[in-house]
Amino acid sequence: MTIFAYSQLQEITMNKLLNYIAGTWKEPSNGLWLDNPEPATGDIFSCIPDSGEQDVQMAVESAKKAFPIWSGMTVEERSRIMLNIAQGMKDAFDALAEAESKDQGKPLSLSRVMDIPRAIQNIEFFATEIIHFASESHGGKGVVNYTVHAPIGIVGCISPWNLPLYLFTWKIAPALATGNCVIAKPSELTPFTATLFAEICMKAGLPDGVLNIVHGSGLHAGSAIVSHPEITAISFTGGTVTGKHIASIAAPMFKKLSLELGGKNPSIIFADCDFDETVSQAVRSAFTNQGEICLCGSRILIEKSIYEKFRNAFIEKVQQLKVGDPFDAGTNIGALVSKGHMEKVMSYIELAKEEGGTILCGGKTISPEGRCKHGWFIEPTVIEGLDNSCRTNQEEIFGPVVTLQSFSNEEEALSLANGTRYGLAANIWTQHLGRAHRMANALEFGIVWVNCWLLRDLRTPFGGMKDSGVGREGGFEVLRFFTETKNVCVKF
Ligand code: NDP
Repeated sequence: MTIFAYSQLQEITMNKLLNYIAGTWKEPSNGLWLDNPEPATGDIFSCIPDSGEQDVQMAVESAKKAFPIWSGMTVEERSRIMLNIAQGMKDAFDALAEAESKDQGKPLSLSRVMDIPRAIQNIEFFATEIIHFASESHGGKGVVNYTVHAPIGIVGCISPWNLPLYLFTWKIAPALATGNCVIAKPSELTPFTATLFAEICMKAGLPDGVLNIVHGSGLHAGSAIVSHPEITAISFTGGTVTGKHIASIAAPMFKKLSLELGGKNPSIIFADCDFDETVSQAVRSAFTNQGEICLCGSRILIEKSIYEKFRNAFIEKVQQLKVGDPFDAGTNIGALVSKGHMEKVMSYIELAKEEGGTILCGGKTISPEGRCKHGWFIEPTVIEGLDNSCRTNQEEIFGPVVTLQSFSNEEEALSLANGTRYGLAANIWTQHLGRAHRMANALEFGIVWVNCWLLRDLRTPFGGMKDSGVGREGGFEVLRFFTETKNVCVKF
């Protein structure tokens, strides 16, 4: 087993993660703590504050003090501090990757190639993008209008457990770059890397109070952030039901809201696809991160003429995936994030059977030998024989479970793909240029990948249609979200 080597991160203790408020570590005001288990073993390895309104109030007070300092800096000064943070993350790369896998259950190999590199890239990207963020000017006869994008003030960033540091930094980096002070809450299930990140920020010279991290549950800490009157924008990534609840509180307070919510994404496979590449990528899209990515292709739609050939090749590859200890080099699929989530995913497998589905492979929990015997593992599961309208094909499962369906033509493929209340991401596999464009045009999804999946350019707009969210992150879109736009009209 890996020994954690916090050579760069001396202040964090393994068993007690603290809030980061006003540049210092703080215990919860109410003295209450939540256990933080390791998904691969089920053992409690740390605890976090069960913070509430008092802690959020303290964070707001510290952010208020810091705001004139941070927003008063030039963009170059803010950019330089953020780049120091990115360097600190690079120096602590191994510790961050190990912490992420221990806390979330994902393979260490994945944390090393995806989560931590992307988290560093998020900070670097927005640290440099802000330098190029220009505002508009509209000239007329004897008049000029110019537009100012000013920081909002104090913003709340609430992130989920599936890509903990990746999504935490995806929110706070643009918020900080635009000159705001942030109150952030990572998921109570995955608080570890955000805490390590706080220590990196301290050492990188981020002024006290610019970033405040309040740990705890959605019910207490999360609600206190959403309903605080001085936190005037909320950037939230999580489930659709939670997003709806947050909107019901924040919208009547006229807060700015960005909601990145759930998905039920189709992988649409035409007979003229590059077959071997498509099979490999469909497996990757289905099971990366145990299927716990909002962008995972969980409904695989296959053109009838290649259905059987594709199904057999797909299953053969899925059966080669190794489920086990996230810290073993050969592991492809780690543990699910919590016992509750594992039980939820298993209940969907039972539902699929009740709905008349056939389990082609997987379908059971696993108890690996050794230290992971009591961990929360599920075999990668492939199901066929279900109608698009059944609950298994309509509701987000968010685990290593996919369904296969067939279609006869483009029209039917579109109708199946668009036939859910979600609209986050679709991927299409075809060599036919016209078809690719026709489909991309008609798909009701915020993101469409053609012959690829999860190929990201951070300059592009990111977000979902329908019940998958409101607003777009990424690029200049998110810099506009985190600023107030003011137009000044001057007559001369
Ligand atoms: P949740 O909606 O349960 O939680 C997300 C965050 O919100 C967590 O930090 C949670 O805290 C917090 N929270 C929960 N309830 C409240 C509340 N009442 N007020 C304020 N905050 C609250 O989602 P999960 O963490 O289970 O994440 C999985 C979901 O996220 C999936 O639906 C997935 O599709 C979606 N997602 C969407 C993405 C996108 O970009 N569209 C990307 C990644 C995930 P706590 O966990 O401590 O309770």
